[in-house]
This record gives sequence, C-alpha cells and structure tokens, in this order.
Amino acid sequence: MKDTPRLIVGITVDQMRYDYLLRYWSDFGNAGFRRLVNEGFLCHNLHYNYMPTYTGPGHASIFTGTTPAYHGIIQNDWYDRASNTMIYCSSDSAAKGVGTGSKSGQMSPHYLTASTLGDMVRMQTNGRGKIIGVALKDRGAILPAGRTADAAYWFVGGEEGVWATSDWYMSVLPDWVNAFNKLKTADKYLSQNWNLLRDASVYDESQADNNAHETPFKGTTKPTFPYDLASLKSANGNYELLKATPFGNSLTIDFVRELITQEKMGADGYTDMLCLSFSSTDYIGHQFGIHAMETQDCYLRLDEELGSFLSFLDDQVGKGNYTIFLSADHGGAPTPSYTAKRKAIGGYWKSDRLELFLEDTLAKRYGQGDWVLNESNQNIFLNHTLMQSKRLSTKEIQYEVAQLCLSFPEVMSAFTASDLSQARGGDLVKNMIQQGYDAQRSGDVIYTLDPGFIEYGMSGTTHGSPFAYDSHVPAIFFGCGVECGETYSRFSITDIAPTVSMMCGIALPDATTGVAIEPAIRKRK
Ligand SMILES: [Zn+2]
Repeated sequence: MKDTPRLIVGITVDQMRYDYLLRYWSDFGNAGFRRLVNEGFLCHNLHYNYMPTYTGPGHASIFTGTTPAYHGIIQNDWYDRASNTMIYCSSDSAAKGVGTGSKSGQMSPHYLTASTLGDMVRMQTNGRGKIIGVALKDRGAILPAGRTADAAYWFVGGEEGVWATSDWYMSVLPDWVNAFNKLKTADKYLSQNWNLLRDASVYDESQADNNAHETPFKGTTKPTFPYDLASLKSANGNYELLKATPFGNSLTIDFVRELITQEKMGADGYTDMLCLSFSSTDYIGHQFGIHAMETQDCYLRLDEELGSFLSFLDDQVGKGNYTIFLSADHGGAPTPSYTAKRKAIGGYWKSDRLELFLEDTLAKRYGQGDWVLNESNQNIFLNHTLMQSKRLSTKEIQYEVAQLCLSFPEVMSAFTASDLSQARGGDLVKNMIQQGYDAQRSGDVIYTLDPGFIEYGMSGTTHGSPFAYDSHVPAIFFGCGVECGETYSRFSITDIAPTVSMMCGIALPDATTGVAIEPAIRKRK
C-alpha cells in the first residue's frame, strides 16, 4: 500500500510563530528551513483550534491529532479540586527520576488520555519500532512521545546539567546517555560568549539591540550582545542559563545525533519515531519578545543546526528513507509595552484584581466565605461545598461570575462550565474554549481577554490566547511520503497527526479529530 519510512522525526519548535518564516526567510541558508520548505510541503495558514495555546497542550495536540478536550492536557499547570493544589502536566509523584535524584525526574505521560502517533507506530510494528522523545523541557519530550514510548529524555538544569528520564520508561540510563553526560557538553557551551551569528546589519527585521521591551539576564542591566555566559551562569540558575541561549538547541541536537547513532534509529525495516522539541526558542521568546535580535539570532542558529541535522539524516538513514514534520506548540504575542508606542492594540492584565473583585462581590451578596478557590490560566474555580451549604445553584452562580468577569473592559468573553458542556460549534472563540475544556479538570468559568492583552511583566512576552499571534504556526512536511507544494487553505493543528499517519501508512491515533491535509500526501501514481 504505502512505502513506510524507516524513521519519522516530529519536530516542535517551541513558540515558533508562522511569520518568523517570512521575516527571517531572506537571512536563512539553503540547507535548513529553506530546504524543508523548498523540497517539502508548507501549510501557510495552520492554526491552533483551541485555547489555551500553551506548551503542554500544544505538544500533546500535534502528536495526538486532537484537542485538550480529548487528550486531557488542558494547561501546563491546572488546579486540582481534590488535592487543592496545582498539577503540572507531565508530573507524576509515583515516578522516580533516572539519572537525576531531583524532582525534575518525577515525570511521566500519565495525565495524557489519548494515544500519539508514536503509540500507533509502536502498535503497528508490534513493539519493534522505537519511539523516543527528546527536549530540554520534560513536557516537550514526554507528551509527544506518548504513553508507550521506549524513552523520553529531558535536560535537568540547575546544578546538574544532565540528560535524564524516569522509571516510567526504564530503571537505569543507557550507557550511551551516561557517556554523553560525562562529556559535559553543556559546560563547553556555557564557557563561551553568545555573540551575533551574523553581521548586525542582517538583523534589520528586529528592534535595536538595547531597548526597554526586553528582559536582561540577571546580573546585567542591559539586554545587549555579547553575552558572557561564564559570568552570567551563577546568577541565572547555573545550567538553567543554557536553556535561554541558542546553545540549548545546539545541545539538544548533539544529544539527538548520538541517540540516533546509538539507538540505531531508522536502521532497520521497522519504522522508528523521534519526537524532538527545541525549547530554547521559547525561553528566548519569553525573555526578549518577538522582535528581538536575540530571537532572530536564535532562529538563524537553529536554521544552521537544522541544515546539518538534515545532512546527518541523509547520511545516517538515507535520503527518502525518513519523514520529517515540523510545527510549533504555540506562537507568541507582540510585547504590549512595545506595540503601545506604535498605537497598536493590547495591554496588560492582572488577574488578581478580578479574583479580589469576585471574592468581594460574592461575599457581599451571599455572606463571607472562600468563594473562589483558585484563579489560574483564566479558569475560575468556585467553592462548590460552600455553594451547596448555602443551597445556591452552581449553574446560577457560574453565570453570575461570568457576568462579573465581563464588567472588566479587558475581558472579551466568559463562558460557564454549563455553557461549555453543551454542543460544540458556533462562535470561533467559544469553540476554541470548548476544544480546550475538560469537565473534570477545567474551572467553573473560563474567560478570554481582548486581542493583544497578556498577563505578564512589562518586558518580554507570553502566549495562551485564541488569537492569530498565538494560534498561527508553521507546518512543514518533508521526505518520504510527502508531495512537494504548499497550501494557503486554513488547517488546524490537529490535522498534522492524521496527515503524517496517511503519509507514512500508519494507523490514526485513537482520538484523532483532525483531517488529513490531502495535497501534502504523495499519491500512488
Ligand atoms: Zn511552548
């Protein structure tokens, strides 16, 4: 039926906006992004079809072909009523770190409630195909690989600076991982300066290096090149610093090359799958924003790394024997302090004000009590026990709270849990909230802000909204099974997994809700 590739590489570039392809295109070389696009298939108009556009949900959605409503990863961290604590999306208190003794090792995909492409490859090859996830961020490695993966490796920063995993996957690290950690490659990167890769004149798509909309590293006053990493290291969390430089991506690639060689990925006739996520783009985007020379430099460097990675795959696995897809887990908002200068939309939101206002108003109307248990990620969790003790209708109080949210000018819409459990459809934003809503894990009321508003400090940026700056991401397919071309039709993030399934001749992930992007798939002649 279909020539299956020896290796599928699913690449997520953390916080990569689609428009970076446009803005940096003329500065890219021919071997990286340009090669992927010129020899592959590019979706110009692919979006997240739910909110919140965060890292955990994004990685899960790309690889499961469905939304948080189905795969359960509704946030990076969500409030848990039962334990009255925040739950982190890839944490697992029952798991033990392997290669690290710290809490950073207590991770697994156990909160993931849908299967991934990797799970399907594993089933299809009767367990012979290897599935491995790699990222600096644990969630960027764990969620894409899925529950049945052989391994997921992530980077433990702080004082450790090592690649580690958890006993969800294995009881001891493979020898090659220990050997790689002993090389102390992270130290090599942290002993050098971060300078511009190219001449400063190349960076004319970005703001001037020194400006008030970027966050300097700790221990410095200006966000300007060159960055002397050795002197910044101790004030910036030691190995944590590496994550917020382009060399975090370099280290990821170094590790992955070794992994492909040592694990013989793509070496036999059974399809293997590597889920690779580049996290440094996100740390840098948060710190410096979407118009920074630092951000541009990170992408120019990533472009070079991708180029050499592609030629490595050509040598190691063979041209035409592997399939790559590349997308992002979310975009990023323009920094409001910067856009304000140009009279553009947007601004800053403080959710504490809303929470206090709700507490106050409900106390005045219904008596003293802890009415709002938690407000996080624009989800409001009300005190059900208190409402029941006062014989108040949950549905009515939810509605009242939604109305109170709307009294803030920055709030665009507010929906109640009762609303959201109704049939899907209608308004785009309501539909996006519904696709991100889980009756067990989400709040009583979910609200959205006006376009351009973020809850963040005055420099750098964040993401999470349903709007284009956060939802619009690139999707590129390359290699075995891929038809060269492009489309400007609108597609969804959940369409990537079914497209890859059909390109590579593997079953659809169980809860797939997306559709295949047909023009990207090479047909039998
Ligand atoms: Zn992210």
